[in-house]
Amino acid sequence: MSEIGGIPSQIRALLACPRCHGGLRDARADGRGGEAGRGTTMRDGTALVCEACALVFPVEAGIPVLLTERARARTSE
Ligand SMILES: [Zn+2]
Repeated sequence: MSEIGGIPSQIRALLACPRCHGGLRDARADGRGGEAGRGTTMRDGTALVCEACALVFPVEAGIPVLLTERARARTSE
């Protein structure tokens, strides 16, 4: 149903933040317009954000890169 960013929800539910093990949800790596770009930018602009510590992890070619060295803080633009 909600296959956002090409990652099935049941798989995404298994993913966790490598730093704090918090839950991850969809974010947009380059999303300046929030939900406005849905459907057009999800191919190359998808990311996962930790709900607990707000680290943003990139999703490259549909594969979540859950490495803390590749993550970046959500608040710093
Ligand atoms: Zn976290």
